[in-house]
Amino acid sequence: MARATAVSTAKPGKENPFEIVQRQIDRCAEILNLDPQVTNMLKHPLRELHMSLPVRMDDGSIKVFQGFRILYNDARGVGKGGIRFHPAETADTVRALAAWMTWKCSLLDLPLGGAKGGVICNPKEMSTAELERLSRAYVRGAYTFIGPDKDVPAPDVYTNPQIMAWMADEYSMIAGKIQFGVITGKPLSIGGSPGRGDATARGGMYTIREAAQAMGMNLRDCTVAVQGYGNAGYHAARLCQALFGSKVIAVCDSKGGVYCETGIDAQKAFDCKKETGSVCNLDTGERISNTDILALDVDILIPAAIENVITERNASQVKARIIAELANGPTTPEADEILYANGVHVIPDFLCNAGGVTVSYFEMVQNAYSYYWDEAEVYEKLDKRMTSAYHSVLNTSHQYNINMRQAAYVLAVKRVVEAMKIRGWV
Ligand code: GLU
Repeated sequence: MARATAVSTAKPGKENPFEIVQRQIDRCAEILNLDPQVTNMLKHPLRELHMSLPVRMDDGSIKVFQGFRILYNDARGVGKGGIRFHPAETADTVRALAAWMTWKCSLLDLPLGGAKGGVICNPKEMSTAELERLSRAYVRGAYTFIGPDKDVPAPDVYTNPQIMAWMADEYSMIAGKIQFGVITGKPLSIGGSPGRGDATARGGMYTIREAAQAMGMNLRDCTVAVQGYGNAGYHAARLCQALFGSKVIAVCDSKGGVYCETGIDAQKAFDCKKETGSVCNLDTGERISNTDILALDVDILIPAAIENVITERNASQVKARIIAELANGPTTPEADEILYANGVHVIPDFLCNAGGVTVSYFEMVQNAYSYYWDEAEVYEKLDKRMTSAYHSVLNTSHQYNINMRQAAYVLAVKRVVEAMKIRGWV
């Protein structure tokens, strides 16, 4: 079913990310003095696809999964954003994430709009064959909504290059021609971009480097804690060690984590997770919960898991000088105020984690040209965009005397509104 208006689907008592998005837009509208009608448009997605996806399971039964694809705003270009496979997915989480994609693409000045997809499922309990059938069912359901000139999905939480490959294949089969540009984050053998694998974390590293320099911190002497050990968290821990020589003293995943004052080897933690299912089984240091990790006495805290982990309840306990938000939406607006008052430098999510979609954009360009760059060229172009976006946000925060997230909003929303105006929408 395609729906025009957004009805909140949040569970009571839990922070609803879409309501957070709407509050953030209101705050930004105040700063920019936006026309209320424009603000209202910005507060709702333009298109929503809600799907029931029947999938044959290995035991012969048919299970029906709920799937979504939400195009938030495509004033600046085709929709762009990942697909999450997550048991706690709701229409509102997808709406919020689609809105954040809109600001993210705009902030990095990519000629793209914002979108997001999701399926309510638990991939950890599904076989490879079941995941493949679900991925193909998703593309069949969303076929008319997505496409290289409409809306281009990508990986996100619990989806990966293999899933992108099945999706690109299904789309191309239906289209009757090779259409690998329908999706990004693909394996290299079918048009993926060099450097896309660790792009989210690497982009975040460039912003941490700039932040540390602005704050007079020497990264070689810095300690780091990483919450979440998926694609973003693992590469962040690895790159903090490899690029800066920083000491990663705590890591965790959804099952728990470890704290070790003398440092944790990022690669060993990755291997441990692969072998045992969690980094908490590492044989060094002591066990730490995935919430206590946020309050550790470290220089840099990297939330790299899910939304709403730093709230008004624990924000005052944060001791880090820099929070680099590799996750989407890890900090609530109330927590933001506390952190700002305490002088914590927050590199906001849609700046810090924009490396993923930036290299996705490079992948789209390379697919369109059918001509591929090497890794060094991708890194160089990524560094340039991330560094420039970081400084624009920092300067705007000084200029308006607002926090980094509000500054990022001001820059991103301004550009989206400009495109809406020039297209005659408002
Ligand atoms: N899922 C990533 C994000 O949230 C990447 C999106 C993309 O590459 O389109 O930014």
